[in-house]
Amino acid sequence: MPLVIPIFIPHEGCPHCCVFCNQRGISGFVENTVSAQDVQRIIREWLDRDNGRAALVQVAFYGGSFTGLPVHRQQELLDAVAPFIAHGQVAGIRLSTRPDYIDTTTVDFLKTHHVTIVELGVQSMVDSVLTAAGRGHLAADVDRAMAILRGSGLETGIQLMVGLPRESRSFLRYTVDRVIALCPDFVRIYPVLVVKNSKLAELYSQGRFQPLTLGKAVILTAWMKNRFDDAGIRVVRMGLQAGKELESSFIAGPWHPGFGELVLSRLMFNKVRKLLADRDVDTPVKLSISSQDESVFRGMKSQNIIRLQQLNLANRFTLLLTPGQQRQTVILIA
Ligand code: SF4
Repeated sequence: MPLVIPIFIPHEGCPHCCVFCNQRGISGFVENTVSAQDVQRIIREWLDRDNGRAALVQVAFYGGSFTGLPVHRQQELLDAVAPFIAHGQVAGIRLSTRPDYIDTTTVDFLKTHHVTIVELGVQSMVDSVLTAAGRGHLAADVDRAMAILRGSGLETGIQLMVGLPRESRSFLRYTVDRVIALCPDFVRIYPVLVVKNSKLAELYSQGRFQPLTLGKAVILTAWMKNRFDDAGIRVVRMGLQAGKELESSFIAGPWHPGFGELVLSRLMFNKVRKLLADRDVDTPVKLSISSQDESVFRGMKSQNIIRLQQLNLANRFTLLLTPGQQRQTVILIA
């Protein structure tokens, strides 16, 4: 696992107002912009704490739309990282931006400034959902940006949201199909939350938007992860990172600090249920999982065990914890 040093560039360079967004509240910087000195101080602090343990170190500019910044500002921030790259302390830079802020000139600029990974805030591939979310770009912008990025050789990630206004099951299925066809290197999935000072907060208070329940968000995200896993696309994060700023701006929605683990537990439960469904009730079986997956197998507050008991499946197997078995796999031993 690389050490990723996060530097938040809140809302800078972004003239848009996505309904779910309150970047200042989420990223933790309120009014101040991040200076080159801030960037270098943050990197030094992280490197000191790590003390040379990480084999690979990356600096990540997250939060705003990096390539929407004026070029001199992009240059200032990227140049602040350059000395650490020259000294071999940092291997490369990753950043997030919008699909409509990608063109060949921009990508060439990024490549000559040590950027190795670009993440696109895509959120949905359905135009009506993007419009309702106030994104200010369409799915065609994603197609165009991905073609440029894939052709450039940069590693490319896609960020998606689940639970956007006007999103239906079929729209979500369509989005996942389209994203798989674009072949990103990795994906992040964020359930939509209602945070203070966002447009969604207004709609929510007027009863015009209802976020997903936690249970539904987990089921939908599990389904998405399954599709991406099958397509060989890494899902590197599910759910927003816990933090004081998010907790203080949170109003409603499927927020849980262990959201990713809830999804993995759900997937594990689905696999176990499927394996046991066709087996003869009277023939005991053994189920083997990775010894690192025991808590995922049980689920938070033993939810999976409770579900298995409710389905009369809990007594039908003996669990084996196998060191070295691939994570998130269940092997049935008759
Ligand atoms: S493009 Fe990004 S930074 Fe700008 S409003 Fe939307 S989510 Fe927020």
